[in-house]
Amino acid sequence: MALPVQPDTQAVPLVIVEGFFCGAGAIIWGNFHQYSNHVYRAGGKEDRRVIFARVGPASSLHDRACELFFSLIGGRVDYGEEHARQHGHKRFGRTHARGSYPAWSRRNPLHFMGHSLGGPTIVKLQWLLKTGFFGARYHPDMILSVNAKVSSPFRGTQLVYLLGEDVHNAPAVRRPSLGLILSAWAHVLAYLAPILPTELDMHADARALSFAETSFSITLRRLWRSDWAETEDAAPYDVTFQAAHCRESQMEGALNPGTYYRSYAACMTENSGDGSPSTPWRHMLTMPLLCLSSRAMRHYDSPSLFLAEQESMSKVTARGDQGRVERKSFLVLRHILRYTSLGDLIFLSETKCRHSTYSLDDSRRAADMLNGSQETAKRHAHLEQGVWHVQHIDAAHHVSIVPFWVGTSRQKAFWRDLGDWLYAIDATRSTAQTM
Ligand SMILES: [Zn+2]
Repeated sequence: MALPVQPDTQAVPLVIVEGFFCGAGAIIWGNFHQYSNHVYRAGGKEDRRVIFARVGPASSLHDRACELFFSLIGGRVDYGEEHARQHGHKRFGRTHARGSYPAWSRRNPLHFMGHSLGGPTIVKLQWLLKTGFFGARYHPDMILSVNAKVSSPFRGTQLVYLLGEDVHNAPAVRRPSLGLILSAWAHVLAYLAPILPTELDMHADARALSFAETSFSITLRRLWRSDWAETEDAAPYDVTFQAAHCRESQMEGALNPGTYYRSYAACMTENSGDGSPSTPWRHMLTMPLLCLSSRAMRHYDSPSLFLAEQESMSKVTARGDQGRVERKSFLVLRHILRYTSLGDLIFLSETKCRHSTYSLDDSRRAADMLNGSQETAKRHAHLEQGVWHVQHIDAAHHVSIVPFWVGTSRQKAFWRDLGDWLYAIDATRSTAQTM
């Protein structure tokens, strides 16, 4: 069934929040506009505005959420006095003379899309809005919709332990490890920040790590023992299972009744002739590191992680939060640890979710054909607020749909459907405002 194009529908801007160590923006996301805006173009209207978030690619979720808020609204980034004191960096960061969307408010909300770490960043932002961190005038309804893709690590990820995070002593990093190299690379970029392009901006202003503010010898020591990456105020720790448990113990991530939610879980394996799952060679050839990391996660030492999980749980209960997290969620987590790669959901007892298969097969690919003035948007029958709609995409992986634009028929179909979904929300909102 099709949704007729309504000329009065206003396109709410879309904010894209990129993942860990990714800040390339439009350079790699490519020409998705042609497909996500097909309805608006058919109606002779301007494309939906897209804003690429300006946040630290290796910063903690808290810091990224603060940077995202002030980059939109404008002003000097304020990480909060208590947070700054607790984590040993300056309270204030860079100043945005003019925000990307100064009119952002409950009456002028925004759509948000996060890839990988971008998903939890948006959830953290909504949590800070809800708890009044930015002031009473801001409300979680300012986030009209959340699209978290693909396989955002809401529940943490084994990958961070494989890279080097110490299972029992996080945020400490093992030596030697790939994580240590990534940590050193982050410090090199932060040290050279004044002369690097914006695509390599680490947004570490509050940490005084550039050559204008610190010495070369101190930076050398940081390459071996980081006072940023090896703290609880950095992205690696935030994607550990321990950190995820702590967030959930505070009910962080509880759904907002005024927001539409979607997340995407990808699976790159396909059934082989004997019915067992296997990874297609095309993925092995194009994304060998991703395939190897997925295999490693599958065979990772789950008992150790479960032990860490129990340790984390005991810390949570020791703080008097017992009863706020149901045992059921931990049983589900055990299942996830054994059978999946990246967690895709927040398993709070209060969280509502609906799962469905998101087919990008031939029938949906046929929608690649643009039909000019005959364009209509697919009617989304399950458009509802305050519920996670989890879409399972077969034969896809962490970066095959976004962020790298290759122009495949599956990507075109995906963006077209996403454009329809956002349009349906916009149309619903416009109708409600005129009643
Ligand atoms: Zn911080």
